[in-house]
Amino acid sequence: MKTYDAVIIGAGPAGMGCAISLVKSGKIPCVIDKAVFPRNKTCAGLVTAKTERLIRQLLSDDHSDDVFCNSADSIKLFQKSSELVEAPLARAVHLVDRIDFDNSLVDRYKSLGGTILEGERGFSVDYDNNRVTLSNGSEIGYNTIVFADGALSMAHKNLKVNKGRLALGIEAYIPSNRTGIKSVNIYFDYLKDGYMWAFPHGDTVCFGAANLFKKGVDYKALFIDFLNDLGVDFTGVEFIGAFLPYGYIVPQEKLPLNVILVGDAAGFADPISGEGLYMALQSGIYAAEAMQTDDPKNSYLKKVKPIIETVKDGAKVQKLFFSTAVQKTFLNKVKGKKGLVSYFFENQVDEYKYAYRDIRKLYGDYKNRNK
Ligand SMILES: Cc1cc2nc3c(=O)[nH]c(=O)nc-3n(C[C@H](O)[C@H](O)[C@H](O)COP(=O)(O)OP(=O)(O)OC[C@H]3O[C@@H](n4cnc5c(N)ncnc54)[C@H](O)[C@@H]3O)c2cc1C
Repeated sequence: MKTYDAVIIGAGPAGMGCAISLVKSGKIPCVIDKAVFPRNKTCAGLVTAKTERLIRQLLSDDHSDDVFCNSADSIKLFQKSSELVEAPLARAVHLVDRIDFDNSLVDRYKSLGGTILEGERGFSVDYDNNRVTLSNGSEIGYNTIVFADGALSMAHKNLKVNKGRLALGIEAYIPSNRTGIKSVNIYFDYLKDGYMWAFPHGDTVCFGAANLFKKGVDYKALFIDFLNDLGVDFTGVEFIGAFLPYGYIVPQEKLPLNVILVGDAAGFADPISGEGLYMALQSGIYAAEAMQTDDPKNSYLKKVKPIIETVKDGAKVQKLFFSTAVQKTFLNKVKGKKGLVSYFFENQVDEYKYAYRDIRKLYGDYKNRNK
């Protein structure tokens, strides 16, 4: 039986962030994914500045720019279909198409000599003996097992982790000649605990909605109302959906020492914006770095502390931010305020320079700079 330094379940951004970093450092991982690449993943693909840096770190310089399917140099905020403000962005925001982006990461890993088992379903994990039995009956061993298998990770069931707060996201990719949208558009006031969007994606525009998931709510109907309200022709367009973690953290310190969760599987996504690519790539890279130490689990938990704090901070603010009163004040405050929205996007969304609990400070700093 071959024993790997790490078996990584899932070849999305979190799994690949870990796998590419491991092979670069001389470790030998084996990645397992149920899908065969290229495969799609429901995701609007907005890449913040902090995410872009990690993408460039993982992909070779020659290929980094190829993964962006679009860029936009302004962000527009809407209250329902009424435009409140169009804010210019000093750094154009990039977008990725997840079929191509995820495939580029997998290609990069393969080009470095990495092992990946695609289309592998029905494998089982023996946590006591550190081995995985594959669907063909063969076995592989591991020193560390990394779960990077998304919001509904198999580790949650296997290791009896309670399912946390999830958001449901729905998307439709509409041919761009039907809409002409070129900016990053965010629509508030259609949903109670989330927002809608329209982002340019090459030949299409990605329309989407994400909201805290509650049973009994017909999110597809709300999404169709939104598209109708904007007058978008979605004839013949498929709707796709997926869950994302929305304000819970898996208590990894309670799991076996050689089990590590990264990305969505760990609960690492922003509970207000829904951004998850940064946390997926960064936590994957951190897991690989931690495996260079004598105590990978504790080293990893120290490294991901800022991510955990961001999720916990956002989870506390989430309910308040989406409450009717605060949304009203927020939408009034941003109306026509290009500078404020640019400052917020460039400092909070792009770089996490301010925690959500420090939004008042952000507002104060912005006002002081513009006195
Ligand atoms: C509607 C929507 C819009 C979003 N928009 C954005 C955005 O604009 N910007 C942003 O930064 N983030 C966005 N996100 C969040 C982002 O998509 C996720 O945070 C990110 O994909 C997480 O990466 P990951 O590698 O942890 O998981 P995933 O990307 O989900 O990858 C998991 C991988 O594991 C594999 N897998 C799953 N189960 C198994 C199994 N049992 N066995 C083997 N393999 C398995 C899957 O095939 C997949 O390849 C959005 C999410 C949604 C739902």
